[in-house]
Amino acid sequence: MSKRDYYQVLGVAKNAGEADIKKAYRRLAMKFHPDRNPGDKEAEEKFKEAKEAYEVLSDTQKRATYDQFGHAGVDAARQGGAGAGGFHAGEAFGDIFGDVFGDIFGGGRRGGGRSQVFRGADLRYGLELDLHDAVFGKSIEIDIPKLSECETCHGSGAAKGSSPVECDTCHGSGQVRISQGFFQLQQTCPKCRGTGKIVKNPCDTCLGQGRVRRVKKLSVKVPPGVDTGDRIRLSGEGEAGRNGGPPGDLYVEVTVKDHPIFERDGAHLSCEVPVSFATAALGGAVEVPTLDGHVSLKIPAETQSGRVFRLRDKGVKPVRGGARGDLFCRVVVETPVNLTAEQRDLVKRLEESLKKGGTRHTPREKSFFEGVKSFFMGDA
Ligand SMILES: [Zn+2]
Ligand SMILES: [Zn+2]
Repeated sequence: MSKRDYYQVLGVAKNAGEADIKKAYRRLAMKFHPDRNPGDKEAEEKFKEAKEAYEVLSDTQKRATYDQFGHAGVDAARQGGAGAGGFHAGEAFGDIFGDVFGDIFGGGRRGGGRSQVFRGADLRYGLELDLHDAVFGKSIEIDIPKLSECETCHGSGAAKGSSPVECDTCHGSGQVRISQGFFQLQQTCPKCRGTGKIVKNPCDTCLGQGRVRRVKKLSVKVPPGVDTGDRIRLSGEGEAGRNGGPPGDLYVEVTVKDHPIFERDGAHLSCEVPVSFATAALGGAVEVPTLDGHVSLKIPAETQSGRVFRLRDKGVKPVRGGARGDLFCRVVVETPVNLTAEQRDLVKRLEESLKKGGTRHTPREKSFFEGVKSFFMGDA
């Protein structure tokens, strides 16, 4: 899933100013906003894409990182922020909303209601997996500390037996009008902060906030084949909304740990297989580990170090579909160490015997020295 260039997404030039970026985002967001396109998946994707692009390009530092390193840089910064197995609240998309839409939608983001409702923040969770779990999938329990609806007051923030009263500054609208010269400006009510309600008698549990920080245990079903950078969305598992707003989403971001033997490149795996000098010379079989257990790899006689053998279908089945990859085994001929006097003598005798055959037994050495010779002759 390759991402489009953020500038392209917003349709602005690389050197576009802050105002142009904001304007371009507004235009796209108005067009593709989920409230205007209910049930339209494509619009939703376009909206998210624009939101992500705006999130990066509107932030001087993130934009600089993106300009220099592209998506990889921004994603890495995100991961760095989340930390290994760590956790942080996402840069609340809601805040961008307030910033960009406060004045367009007149605050009443959800269908222009009387007072503002606030969607809860999206959260990110960095999940480290070992290769085996990433390849075969696993159900994992994670602990998410987040703002959840207060169970005592069910989010209202008011103590038992009481309920919030209408804000007397904005009369429940969540908005106040202020005059500035000839203009009348609408602003979020400073007293109730847009909710239109005032809690006179706050709930003891949440101190009137309606939300409390709680650790929630969640089970994440990691599908087989995921790779570093994949995100699993748990809809509605972000922070609780305010004033009746919907909760945000939780994004679980996968990082696959390095494996001591296998290296992964998408669907393919590779590894090094040490082979004894005798097996390489005479042929034989070696045991090779795969993700499905050991298999026997046939080594033909006269195998040179560095030769690669391909084991079909011993790689990874990609999470987005497609054929299972292969395992590439690179043979490394091992030089024997810790030789006894007798073994040293045997090796010497073997060497002397091989020398008698000239370069017949050493094709690599032969081509190497011929190359060196022609290099000095000047016709290389
Ligand atoms: Zn409460
Ligand atoms: Zn108010």
